[in-house]
Amino acid sequence: MQRPQKRMTKQRSVILEELSKVRTHPTAYDVYEMVRVRLPRISLGTVYRNLEHLSSSGMIKRLDLGGGQRRFDFVNDDHMHIRCIACGRVDDVVLNQGQGMTTIEEMVGTASGYQVLGCSMEFQGICPRCRTETGRGSGGRSEHHTGTD
Ligand SMILES: [Zn+2]
Ligand SMILES: [Zn+2]
Repeated sequence: MQRPQKRMTKQRSVILEELSKVRTHPTAYDVYEMVRVRLPRISLGTVYRNLEHLSSSGMIKRLDLGGGQRRFDFVNDDHMHIRCIACGRVDDVVLNQGQGMTTIEEMVGTASGYQVLGCSMEFQGICPRCRTETGRGSGGRSEHHTGTD
């Protein structure tokens, strides 16, 4: 049963707005720190409840990734994520899929017989920044990559 949707509260719209500005997949605490700039009296519990509400109503995406921390993503389309096991940052993985190419959803649908409605896939790795920090000494003559701009 669905309740009629209530008017969005000021707190909730600020949370949504702040979340829409970043692509860093913040944790509830990160969102709290962002929102607190504009709503100094908001509590972490309020932020958390609003995030849960927004994600259960499909307006944001909740990422239950490895690493123990629940993160939130404003972008509501289906994309994959990659998490750096060194620093914990999470990035979007957007594959360049030309027209007519088989998507992962299609492949999974064919293999499983399901109608695939979405996916939340997580890869793990070492992000470019951590690679340049930890790469020294391990691989010998590893070149310094500066192609991230
Ligand atoms: Zn990293
Ligand atoms: Zn994302």
